[in-house]
Amino acid sequence: MSHPNCNYRAFRDSYLFSTIYRRTEEYLAAHPGARVLNLGVGDVSLPISKTVIAALHAAVEEQADAKTFHGYLPECGLPGLRKAIAAHYGRYGVELEPEEVFISSGAIDDIADILALFDKEDTALVLEPTYPAYVETNLIAGHEIKYLESGKEDRFLPLPAPDLKADIIYLCSPGNPTGAAYDRKALKAWVDFANRIGAVILFDAAYEIFVSEPQIPHSIYEIDGAKTCAIEICSLSKTAGFTGMRLGYTIVPKTLSRDCMDFNAMWTRDRTSKTNGVSYILQKGAEAVFTEQGWEECLENINRYHANSKALMEALDEAGAWYCGGKNSPYVWVQCPEGLDSWTFFDRLLNELQIVGVPGEGFGKCGRDYIRFSSFGDPEDTKEAARRLKTVF
Ligand code: PLP
Repeated sequence: MSHPNCNYRAFRDSYLFSTIYRRTEEYLAAHPGARVLNLGVGDVSLPISKTVIAALHAAVEEQADAKTFHGYLPECGLPGLRKAIAAHYGRYGVELEPEEVFISSGAIDDIADILALFDKEDTALVLEPTYPAYVETNLIAGHEIKYLESGKEDRFLPLPAPDLKADIIYLCSPGNPTGAAYDRKALKAWVDFANRIGAVILFDAAYEIFVSEPQIPHSIYEIDGAKTCAIEICSLSKTAGFTGMRLGYTIVPKTLSRDCMDFNAMWTRDRTSKTNGVSYILQKGAEAVFTEQGWEECLENINRYHANSKALMEALDEAGAWYCGGKNSPYVWVQCPEGLDSWTFFDRLLNELQIVGVPGEGFGKCGRDYIRFSSFGDPEDTKEAARRLKTVF
């Protein structure tokens, strides 16, 4: 008889996005022709840039010719792409060896898979409110999960208390859902803490390209000491519009070890056992992202999203609403007015202003009084939503 992983019993069904969808559809059915403005989108809307598309086409052509055709590839990634990503970190003053870069099919894949490197008894620390995958993957792995709450007082950027204990620490900066981003000093506090207690930080840098302020690091390796305590997980999903293409990368420094186990060697071993790598075509497209022209084009798209955030932030400033995020992130995290909880405010926005946001409660109980707006939507819709929002706070 097989013994299923009963950790799946700990799951509650997630109704967040299906409930948002259902309530929006119900509203539209009752109000045909209403202009509902969607600030809930967590997906990119701009297409992939020209340089990357050209590289993808060229790679397809290579696969059509016996002389240039590629079969199986190195499991950890094409050497050229690993090198290009290592060089990309040079933009942020970080030196990496290509062998410290591992190509994946997206950040969420590695957020889940990386837990294979940790003992079952390890405890995970998750900062609330949180991107749900950190919780769900640890539930499946059977790890004890500890929550560190955050709120308006710390602008959703909590710091480690000296008596905090954990083996795996999740940091996401710039964060989803709050858009808040740690500065160097705060990140240094986490790095020093992790090194002191022997924990490993899993640093999610999925939104690094949105960083626009000089005091905010793009990578945790900009902080002294991070290479002995942190694994960084990143993605081209938001950077280059790859949400439907699927390519990410994970940095496992050669200097990261615990109990005489070398994490870089373990991850190399893990990948060579569990994957045959990522599609050649996608990896060639990804290589183009990291060329000067490719990166420039990605930044042009990001600036268009930034313009949406700016429109939202200006409206919220004018209305006197409390929010964080927006500056270094596609997300603006807004406190609901008049003590409303996030679902009540969601309904009010939909019914009175025809605006859709994501209720903060979907990201944990610390999100109960907040709503997430995103800047991935249409610019005209976002401007109109910003205009309408001024009246609600
Ligand atoms: N990490 C964070 C914080 C995210 O918000 C997302 C996607 O929304 C991911 C990871 C997943 O990225 P990917 O599309 O590369 O799996």
